Amino acid sequence: MAALSSSDLLAAWDAGRARRPLDRALWLLWATGTDAAQDLPLADRDRRLLRLREALFGRQIALLATCPGCAAQVEISVDTQDLQRHLGDCGEVMVETPDGPVTLRAMTSADLAQISSVPEDEREAAACDRLTPALPAAARTAIYNAIEAQLAEAELTVRLVCTDCGTSWRETLDIADCLWVEVDTAARRLMADVADLAGAFGWSEAQSLAVPAARRAVYLAHARGI
Ligand SMILES: [Zn+2]
Repeated sequence: MAALSSSDLLAAWDAGRARRPLDRALWLLWATGTDAAQDLPLADRDRRLLRLREALFGRQIALLATCPGCAAQVEISVDTQDLQRHLGDCGEVMVETPDGPVTLRAMTSADLAQISSVPEDEREAAACDRLTPALPAAARTAIYNAIEAQLAEAELTVRLVCTDCGTSWRETLDIADCLWVEVDTAARRLMADVADLAGAFGWSEAQSLAVPAARRAVYLAHARGI
């Protein structure tokens, strides 16, 4: 997947910053030219986000977590390609129910948005109705268990070990949140660069962003008197 240009990154940041975390991930994928990102199975969406993360910031993601045993700060680095291998399958599955086998399709961001919009005690029924319409009530438990298993398979987790006390535990890695934080930092850094170039040379945002990154860094060093 190609990295976003500086101006595309700023445009995606501008469009996504006031939206919910779920929608921000979709804005990043739309900015790369991914059509109908809201209809991608969650594992497929996250695989694409991991590839975008690689293109923008490289393969290694540094994670910081607090040890549940002794509260020490534990830092590890995870590889985006290892994470992609751990993402589950995105295909349909057959679920055995008291009413016979039922086909369950993979959940998408559009499904999640719709399901999270209903009260919490109605979400189980909403998830079943959305993914398997016209489902007999007796089959719901089996289907909902299969949906939960599917969501667990689409979740990225990382195993950590504390070198101070030996505690081992797993943390969930939400690549959509993680990537957005990095895009937000990169966008703010770009805007600071644009402001300094405007102050030094009178360039517009478009003019500054059109200069290739390596040359822009040299102009910035001059603008900042480094
Ligand atoms: Zn510890």
